[in-house]
Amino acid sequence: MNAEIIAVGSELLLGQITNTNARFLSQHLAEIGVNIYYHTVVGDNEKRLEDAVNLAKERADLIVFSGGLGPTKDDLTKETIARLMGTTLEYNQEALQSIEEYFRKTSRVMTENNKKQALVIKNSIVLKNDNGMAPGMFAKAEGKYYMLLPGPPREMQPMFLNYGRPEILKTMEKVEKIESRVLRFFGIGESALETDIDDILMKQTNPTIAPLAGDGEVTLRITAKHESTEKAFKMIQQAEDEILERVGQFFYGYGETTIAAELAVKLKEKQVTISAAESLTGGLFLGELTAIEGMSSHLKGGIVCYTNEVKEQQVSVKKETLEQYGAVSSECAKELAENIRKICRSDIGISFTGVAGPGVHEGHEPGTVFLAIAAEGQETIVHSLKMAGSRNAIRKRTVKYGCHYLLQMFNEEL
Ligand code: ATP
Repeated sequence: MNAEIIAVGSELLLGQITNTNARFLSQHLAEIGVNIYYHTVVGDNEKRLEDAVNLAKERADLIVFSGGLGPTKDDLTKETIARLMGTTLEYNQEALQSIEEYFRKTSRVMTENNKKQALVIKNSIVLKNDNGMAPGMFAKAEGKYYMLLPGPPREMQPMFLNYGRPEILKTMEKVEKIESRVLRFFGIGESALETDIDDILMKQTNPTIAPLAGDGEVTLRITAKHESTEKAFKMIQQAEDEILERVGQFFYGYGETTIAAELAVKLKEKQVTISAAESLTGGLFLGELTAIEGMSSHLKGGIVCYTNEVKEQQVSVKKETLEQYGAVSSECAKELAENIRKICRSDIGISFTGVAGPGVHEGHEPGTVFLAIAAEGQETIVHSLKMAGSRNAIRKRTVKYGCHYLLQMFNEEL
């Protein structure tokens, strides 16, 4: 929110008093995050006040006035503002009563002039004056906020702190509704993703898009600010659509979800069963899925086949395959996936075989992985991967790749 302070009073222009109200208001507005770009001082002159307001309207969301709320003829702030807002003044009963009370207490005679102090801008929020007679006002017109405060600092300061500032904070809450959405990606590196959406990232202001990478994944947090939550979400949706048009094939879910959780959702949705033969992942995939509630209808089971012996004896991988191509091969992965599917009588079989490291195995560098997916009535697909990182990072990322390729397969089926 940008604000301008207009101090009204010829005494200020004549140098008879210092504009301490502007200083006080600036300090307190800055404290709550309101930007002050201009201070204006204008005399008790209607035309010049009008010019000052019209100029301030061009460059501020909030205009704070001090002074000119008194009972005399030269106090013309509220009359001028009401006219510029296209409204009128009306009596505020509470203010009228407190003025009458004041005169009763001090046994003084109340004049018509004094009554004028109880006039406030129609439909404005009245700010109580606990130390004087002129009430303050907070009004809105054509998207601009106006706050009118009395000149005497002992009246203005407590009024602003106790009644004015809370009203500004309330409107700022409206302006500052912040909504965000996190998009999760797998299968694309952070720099590749950033390159693909570089122009979108460059032009961002509202919503903002913040990329974050970790655990082989990339997330994008889209944050929009708007007075209306609905509009903020619309802005987020637009940014999301634009991003997914470019890199949608790597997107798997929102917020705090995991790729395994998204796979579980898809398995349920598609009503399919799955089983796994795991070598280098040693049951990590099965572990991830069994951690999700309700998987018993979709996860049939699996075999951890770390050694060639188990691959051959328990998952029926042909001896010749192991001898000719080795365990870390596309051929072995294919047989593992197809056989585990049959052994467990599931719709889909997935297999993971490779080198987690740190050493070279069967002549393959660490991070060499073969991952196969066998589905009934379809040709088995083998994915060959090359990954860098620690042993554990490679194993975990291999599982994520498994989920990723399964999700891709389901999405392609759509
Ligand atoms: P009142 O009801 O007392 O007439 P008002 O809202 O009409 O208040 P002014 O008549 O403009 O205010 O000013 C009243 C007194 O308040 C001034 O004589 C001065 O002492 C003080 N005052 C006004 N404006 C400022 C200012 N910007 N900074 C510091 N003091 C101010």
